[in-house]
Amino acid sequence: MNGITIALSKGRIFEETLPLLAAAGIVPAESPESSRKLIIGTNRDDVRVVIVRASDVPTYVQYGAADLGIAGKDVLLEHGGAGLYQPVDLNIAKCRMCVAVPAGFDYAAAVRRGARLRVATKYVQTAREHFAAKGVHVDLIKLYGSMELAPLAGLADAIVDLVSSGVTLKANNLLEVEEIMTISSRLVVNQASLKVKRELLQPVIEAFAKAAG
Ligand code: ATP
Ligand code: MG
Repeated sequence: MNGITIALSKGRIFEETLPLLAAAGIVPAESPESSRKLIIGTNRDDVRVVIVRASDVPTYVQYGAADLGIAGKDVLLEHGGAGLYQPVDLNIAKCRMCVAVPAGFDYAAAVRRGARLRVATKYVQTAREHFAAKGVHVDLIKLYGSMELAPLAGLADAIVDLVSSGVTLKANNLLEVEEIMTISSRLVVNQASLKVKRELLQPVIEAFAKAAG
C-alpha cells in the first residue's frame, strides 16, 4: 500500500483519536460503530483506517499491515513492543492498572505471611513482573474479560485489571488494594514504514504529538 494505513480499535480509542486525526487533517469517512466496515476511507485518498481488536493493534503495526496504530500501554506491555517505534504518549484512554480483591479479603496480611495468591487477569506479563518485583508468590490465571467475576465465583483471590472510575469494582464489591501503574495510549509506528514513508508519516506524527500536548 502506497499511502498510510492506521490501525485503530473501535470504542474509546477510535472516539478519542478523532480529534488527533482532525489535527493532522484526517477525517474518517464513517464510524466503525455504525458502518461495520473494517477498512474505512478518509478525506485523504492516501490515508485509510483499519479497525482491529485493541490487543491486535501492535501486531498489525509490527508486521507492517498498518504503518501507524494507537494502543494502550497495557496492550503494549503484553505485546512486548518488538518492531515498534513508540514516539508519542497521546494521553488518551487514561486509566490505571491495579490489584483488586473482594471487600472481605485481607490482601496486606496475605502478602505479609507469604501466602501464595491466585490472581486472575488479562495482563499476565505485567502482573507477573509486578508480583515478582514485590516478592509475592502468585499463580496467574489468564482471562479474556469480566475479570471482576473471578474472585466472586471462587476462581481467584485477586484480580489485576484496568480501572478508571472504580464503579465496576464497587458494583461487584471489590476494593482496589494496589496501583500497579497509570495507563494511557501511545502512537506506535512500524520501524520500516518510518524509513520508507517518512515524508508521509512525519507530518502526521508531528500533528499528533502537538495535539496531544
Ligand atoms: P476488547 O474489548 O477487544 O477485549 P479492550 O476491552 O481492551 O479490548 P477497550 O475497552 O476498547 O478494548 O480498551 C482499549 C484501551 O483503552 C485499553 O487497552 C486501555 O488502554 C484503555 N482502557 C481500558 N479500559 C479503560 C477505562 N475504563 N477507561 C479508560 N481507558 C480504558
Ligand atoms: Mg473493554
